[in-house]
Amino acid sequence: MALSLEAREVVKSYRVGESTVNAVDDVSMRLHQGEFVALVGPSGSGKTTMLALLAGLLRPTSGSILIGGQELAGMSESDRARFRRRNIGFTFQANNLVPYLTALENVELMLRLNNQYDDNGRKRARELLSLLGIADKFQVLPRQLSGGQQQRVAIARSLINSPTLVLADEPTASLDTERAIQVVETLANLMHERRSAGIMVTHDLRMVQYADRVIQMLDGRVERVISPEDDLSCLADPSECRTIGGDVLGFTEADVAGSA
Ligand code: ADP
Ligand code: MG
Repeated sequence: MALSLEAREVVKSYRVGESTVNAVDDVSMRLHQGEFVALVGPSGSGKTTMLALLAGLLRPTSGSILIGGQELAGMSESDRARFRRRNIGFTFQANNLVPYLTALENVELMLRLNNQYDDNGRKRARELLSLLGIADKFQVLPRQLSGGQQQRVAIARSLINSPTLVLADEPTASLDTERAIQVVETLANLMHERRSAGIMVTHDLRMVQYADRVIQMLDGRVERVISPEDDLSCLADPSECRTIGGDVLGFTEADVAGSA
């Protein structure tokens, strides 16, 4: 199956005073089309930095990131911005909705930016918002929405262009359990249907059951990868989880042979 994302030995370091902090420290991962991965780990373990690197919003100190086979670092700023708009959908913890546009217009804005603002696009924007449970709020401004509703509009906006890669940083942080499950199930289903790859950062262990794999970070590194066959309750006491490398990281023998 085709690769949507390949990160190779990615490092992001910052100078803090006299010392260097590796926010992301030698992370490699591969996601195939249609895979939905949960990224977990304690606060400060590098999850947001990793997502920002994959989104091309930060440049890695070293290592490479390929999305749909294209190397982000090889692009100029403007090419990367265009590539991101077409191929990467992301929602970060701050939702950044445009305050003077309605919920629907915020989603449609992404269509306009990609020259896809046609009848079909407008229909998809409505469907997506409905799927995420905000059918009755199309014409409402962000400030009239709850935090959870704003978050769902931002998720709809990240998905409207059917991106190759979907990145969501704690997409359920301000949702109650029922809504959170609805959002995560919608994300998982869309990734599978559209053959997009998705990564969701979450602290909520109830949400990881919808993922195809769970990648756990610690101190900027991949601490372990947990496959769906594992009992995910082991995450509460990670020493109980099987630590698996190899193909669970996304590298199958065929991939390795193919890239040699
Ligand atoms: P998480 O999202 O898992 O909580 P982050 O990716 O936000 O973790 O941060 C990982 C580590 O990198 C933390 O120790 C954080 O303090 C550090 N870090 C992140 N961004 C910067 C920055 N711009 N300058 C210095 N240190 C940073
Ligand atoms: Mg974070």
